[in-house]
Amino acid sequence: MADLASPAKTAAIINKYNFMFRKKFGQNFLIDASVVEEIIDAAGISEEDTVLEIGPGIGTMTQYLAERAGRVIAVEIDRALIPILEDTLSAYDNVRVINDDILKVDLNRLSEEENGGRPIKVVANLPYYITTPIIMALLEKEVPLESITIMVQKEVAERMKTGPGSKDYGALSLAVQYYSEPVIVTEVPPHCFMPRPGVSSMVIRLDRYKEPPVTPKDPDKMFKLIRASFNHRRKTLSNGLSTDPSLGLSREKVTEALEKMGLPVDIRGEKLDLAQFAELSDQLC
Ligand code: SAM
Repeated sequence: MADLASPAKTAAIINKYNFMFRKKFGQNFLIDASVVEEIIDAAGISEEDTVLEIGPGIGTMTQYLAERAGRVIAVEIDRALIPILEDTLSAYDNVRVINDDILKVDLNRLSEEENGGRPIKVVANLPYYITTPIIMALLEKEVPLESITIMVQKEVAERMKTGPGSKDYGALSLAVQYYSEPVIVTEVPPHCFMPRPGVSSMVIRLDRYKEPPVTPKDPDKMFKLIRASFNHRRKTLSNGLSTDPSLGLSREKVTEALEKMGLPVDIRGEKLDLAQFAELSDQLC
C-alpha cells in the first residue's frame, strides 16, 4: 500500500537509512499524497501502461505508479537510494529499478526490451538541474512515448507552453510544441516537498503528436535556425542569422526570405511562431 507521501513517513525512511539529501542531484521529495495522486491522474495511468519514472527518490510516487500501471521502470542516479527503494518497493513485483543516469540510458532499447517498442508513459518529479536536457532527450531521440507528465519549475513549465510575444518564449517552447501539445496540470507550492525548493513548481503534461504540426523540409535545419535566433535574441533576425558562423547565411539571403514571407526585414526571432520558422527554414534551405 502506497504510504510514503507524508512528512512523517518520509522523515522516518530518511532517518532509518541515515540518508543525506544531495543538492547536486536535485533531491526534493514529494510529501503530499494529493499532489502525487493528481500527477498520476493527469498521466491517465492504467494497468495497460508501462511507465518510465525518472528519479524515484525513496519511491514515494513509484508505489502509486506500481499500484496503477502494468509495469514501472524507475531510473535513479543516486546509489544511496537503491537499498531504500529495495525496501519501499519490496511489495511490488512489477517494478524494475535501474541505478543509472537517465541521460546515459538507451531509452529506445529500454522501451524495446520492456514494452516491445510500444509507446510508454513518462512520469516524474524531475531533478530541476537537468530538466531541459531530459525533456529534449525524450523528445528528440524519438523514444516511443505517449506522454510525459512531469513536475518542473513553474518558470520552465511556462516557457514550454508560451508563444511569440512573451519574454519566456524561446527554443524550448518551440521544440516542445513541435513534438507535443503541452497541458498545464497544476501549480505545486514548495511546502509539498522535503526539503523545500526555493521556487514554485508546476506539473505539465506533454502529449506527444503522432505527426508534428508543421512539416519543414529539414527539421534539423529549422531547429538550427531557431537556436541561432534565440542565441541572438536582441538582434534582428537578418543580423543574428547572418552573423552566426554555424549557418553560413548572408544578410541578403535572410532579408529576401523574410520579404517573401511578408515579414518586416527588421523582425526579431521572438516574434515568429513555429509555422513561420518552418517556412523560413524552407526558404533558406
Ligand atoms: N520522485 C521522487 C519524489 O517525487 O519524491 C524524487 C524526486 S527528486 C526531485 C529527483 C530525483 O531524481 C532524485 O531522486 C535524484 O536523485 C534523481 N536524479 C537526479 N539526477 C538524475 C539523473 N541524471 N538520472 C536519474 N535520476 C536522477
